[in-house]
Amino acid sequence: MEKSTDDLVSIVLPVFNEEQGIQRTIDTLEAFIDNQPQQFELIFVDDGSRDKSVQLISEARQFHNNIKIVQFSRNFGHQLAITAGIRYTSGDAVVVMDADLQDPPAVIVEMIKKWQAGADVVYGKRVSRDGESLFKKVTAAVFYRTLKRITNVDIPLDTGDFRLMDRQVVNELAKMNETDPYVRGMVSWVGFNQTSVEYERQERIAGVSKYPFSKMLRLAMDGVTSFSSFPLQLANWLGSFSIIFSFGYLFITLMTGFNTLQFAVFSLFLLMGLGLLSLGLVGAYLFRVFEASRKRPLYIVARTKGFQSASKHSST
Ligand code: UDP
Ligand code: MG
Repeated sequence: MEKSTDDLVSIVLPVFNEEQGIQRTIDTLEAFIDNQPQQFELIFVDDGSRDKSVQLISEARQFHNNIKIVQFSRNFGHQLAITAGIRYTSGDAVVVMDADLQDPPAVIVEMIKKWQAGADVVYGKRVSRDGESLFKKVTAAVFYRTLKRITNVDIPLDTGDFRLMDRQVVNELAKMNETDPYVRGMVSWVGFNQTSVEYERQERIAGVSKYPFSKMLRLAMDGVTSFSSFPLQLANWLGSFSIIFSFGYLFITLMTGFNTLQFAVFSLFLLMGLGLLSLGLVGAYLFRVFEASRKRPLYIVARTKGFQSASKHSST
């Protein structure tokens, strides 16, 4: 079919044991692409699947020359699959989506419209989640709200990794070599013009979720430790509280009569407070080491004007 624009859109799909639904995903996406004016490439990142997923995707390449495969040597996890996938893209815009069609392809049209209107990141905001357990919905709702409170980066609520990113954003992400990446947080951290489209998350077409509770917990920990020092500050708060409490206690007991036992209680709280406070201080220094070790760029320059050779890569 004749394409009316020469934009290339890359779609990155992490795949882990999706043999039951992958064929339908490919068929649905190819049918979708046929009706779009842009060029598309589909980059499947096989995250160490132990089933026929790769074989099925490879076979589909005979019929669709826009399919590309990045195959991991083992299961490295969803976030690293996305991280790798976007590095292999060459599109002007990059879309990340689940390989189980939980993220409806039709939403991509809306994302592209907003991108063409000037947005650099268009993330999908889930207004509903079909076919997911009450447990998952509740834990996710609580987690994203807590994370928002304790982090200093504005990570949008009810948003997974389904999103469109401009090439410039993808280039910045590709520079971030984080050991345990929390991609949705990193995209927020990068900045630029970010906006959302609302969508209804569908039931997965086949198979079961590849996110058991253990992986969910790990993702949540990565989110917190990547973007918040709150847990480390907790020791400071508890320590300060304990010291204040000890002096309050001392004051009250001095008024009402003071004995050895009460002095012991006072000392206990005072020492515990000092101990926790020191721990918090150690934590604060540790966090700086941790921040430095992440090697995030210190800042990102969105655009420059008036320079002889405008450099897109002037971050350090
Ligand atoms: N996935 C992956 N590696 C993993 C777990 C999941 O690449 O270790 C893929 C999976 O195949 C799917 C996407 O990441 O395309 C999201 O996983 P899933 O759909 O199981 O999570 P849920 O939608 O249930 O949160
Ligand atoms: Mg899914």
